[in-house]
Amino acid sequence: SSESNLIRATLFPGDGIGPEIADSVKQIFKVADVPIEWEEHFVGTEIDPRTQSFLTWESLESVRRNKVGLKGPMATPIGKGHRSLNLTLRKELNLYANVRPCYSLPGYKTKYDDVDLITIRENTEGEYSGLEHQVVRGVVESLKIITRQASLRVAEYAFYYAKTHGRQRVSAIHKANIMQKTDGLFLKCCREVAEKYPEITYEEVVIDNCCMMLVKNPALFDVLVMPNLYGDIISDLCAGLIGGLGLTPSCNIGEGGIALAEAVHGSAPDIAGKNLANPTALLLSSVTMLRHLDLHDKADRIQDAVLKTIAEGKYRTGDLGGKSTTSEFTKAICDHL
Ligand code: NAD
Repeated sequence: SSESNLIRATLFPGDGIGPEIADSVKQIFKVADVPIEWEEHFVGTEIDPRTQSFLTWESLESVRRNKVGLKGPMATPIGKGHRSLNLTLRKELNLYANVRPCYSLPGYKTKYDDVDLITIRENTEGEYSGLEHQVVRGVVESLKIITRQASLRVAEYAFYYAKTHGRQRVSAIHKANIMQKTDGLFLKCCREVAEKYPEITYEEVVIDNCCMMLVKNPALFDVLVMPNLYGDIISDLCAGLIGGLGLTPSCNIGEGGIALAEAVHGSAPDIAGKNLANPTALLLSSVTMLRHLDLHDKADRIQDAVLKTIAEGKYRTGDLGGKSTTSEFTKAICDHL
């Protein structure tokens, strides 16, 4: 491909194991001949007054301009007077939906081998609006905010995702029997959007029942959409079904079509710099980024190579019970490509 055909994407290698697993992605993209040119941005060492965080204005501009990016884990420096890095990204880029594909990895045995579902979490409001206060001594209050605008936006994305990814069903997860106003509004918005997608089956499942169904038989679900707090919990539950946060990809969708893919795990300071980290979660996140860009061919090839390498079992990192280094595992994937 010529220079002009290259798609520019922002890359935040991040902290701790971030740079090591980001290197692995870069190598694999090169071998797979992915037409992406990375624009690398690092977390600064000083607070940028324009963002009030260690993330620079330029790095946010890069994501806004490219509309697509990949993010390694970031460790927010401790101290006062700045915003957390992840919060800065979420607010500044208006990342309103968190999408996590959860599918069984062939060859990596868990209690379930037929998981194939997508959780879509509203990411800007609900119980996480940060509106908590003390009413009087001994009584505190937390406001759960649900708006029509944010609910429609995430519901629209869920159905759009289902349609464009050949999915059959969208389940809205709620507790509207108790939270009649808030979850009631969320459901109303989902129903409105569902009417525009008659080809997709729509259902509503109460969150407690949903948890029971998920652990009994995850194959009952396809695409799940839900408010913030439920999404936080259910998406981790689903990650657990397929082997944990070290394997789970995710992608954040923002205003104006921004997609920022990221691994779900943290910076793993205990193994950082030792060539021991498992790059799978970041790699599979990069695959969701490629799918967002409609580069399905490249996405399939890389996903297959990663899954084959894990299934083969010859090269696995320590967290999956193996003895391989990050670079040996990466090389094995490249060989499969
Ligand atoms: P963590 O996910 O970094 O580590 C938990 C355990 O999982 C550790 O034992 C670690 O070695 C292991 N682990 C995680 N990812 C792994 C990988 N790819 N390969 C092999 N092993 C892996 O969680 P933590 O220790 O609670 O957090 C460490 C730092 O990361 C904190 O500063 C936290 O704020 C930050 N963090 C960032 C994000 C993010 O950027 N999205 C998410 C969570 C935590």
